[in-house]
Amino acid sequence: MSEPDAIHPERTIDLRSDTLTQPTPEMRAAMAGAAVGDDVFGEDPTVQELQQRIAGLLGKEAALFMPSGTMSNQVAVRAHTEPGDEVLLESTAHIAYYESGAPAALSGVMCRYVTGERGIFTSADLRAEVRPANAHFPVTKLLCVENTHNRGGGSVWPLASVRDVTAVGREHGWRLHLDGARLWNASVATGVSERDYAAPFDSISVCFSKGLGAPVGSALAGSAEFIRRAHRFRKMFGGGLRQSGVLAAAALYALDHHRERLREDHANARRLAQGLNGLAGLQVEPAGVETNIVMIGTGEMPAETVARRLADACVRVLAVGPHRLRAVTHLHLQEAVIDEVIRRAGEALAN
Ligand SMILES: *Cc1c(COP(=O)(O)O)cnc(C)c1O
Repeated sequence: MSEPDAIHPERTIDLRSDTLTQPTPEMRAAMAGAAVGDDVFGEDPTVQELQQRIAGLLGKEAALFMPSGTMSNQVAVRAHTEPGDEVLLESTAHIAYYESGAPAALSGVMCRYVTGERGIFTSADLRAEVRPANAHFPVTKLLCVENTHNRGGGSVWPLASVRDVTAVGREHGWRLHLDGARLWNASVATGVSERDYAAPFDSISVCFSKGLGAPVGSALAGSAEFIRRAHRFRKMFGGGLRQSGVLAAAALYALDHHRERLREDHANARRLAQGLNGLAGLQVEPAGVETNIVMIGTGEMPAETVARRLADACVRVLAVGPHRLRAVTHLHLQEAVIDEVIRRAGEALAN
């Protein structure tokens, strides 16, 4: 007989993403019991409750429920710009790197990159990219910041750095957007409230479907006027939903029950990093693990090869570069599961 909480050797442990989280039984109950209406008519009380809650949490006048973080970001880009404008963002920002070319396709804007360190750039880095007003150049209209930074390895922007770069933006009269898909993680990691992080920005996008564990949904927040304009583009992009209170109920449940517990994910990410660093040539910079994302260097070995050998041992991670893997901790992965991952990795990668 196995011990009560032994992990079955054939149980797949999936660390590819925190989007793999499944709604818990309690969350499903909240969804099943949600009061709903047709939100395209503005009549879904649960969606309205969520929107007010998010506006309050982020210190803005209004918020809009969105089907995805991608739509939330791209509606923001569209609402802030006109075709031919330029958007400034970090060179590996999700908005430009992972959203299918949407800034060009849906808003007709140009992206200009600021190269950061783990996704974080300084006001000096930013100033170096600023060009004078001149008919040769596109009109720079929008600056985007991503916190935590996904490809940066879940790195956290210090509040002082956010204030520095947004001050440069204000100086130039740009609009300011925060891609805060994992802003919850940044707040738990630093103790800086979401509201304080959001304060310098005109718009903020947050996700419920990452570490918070809701099945679907994001929200965009900003001034009442901005959200009215964003509402029009959400409809245009096909994001008007009907009885979406079922989804908003999951988001509300997640805000109440899954926010504080993100600190467990962060502790587990550090535990994983310590356990994997140096194992069979893997390299993990422990100081680089700030939230729930662990970036793993594979040295000489191709990342795909290591990922395949781990998959054979029922551990799934994601190759995000030729020699780089990503592992993400989340609410289905308890400490004992992390220890099992380290054990399986040791076996799978030995010799
Ligand atoms: C996940 C993510 C998004 C949005 O992704 P969707 O899959 O469209 O919800 C946006 N920005 C960042 C930084 C993300 O990690």
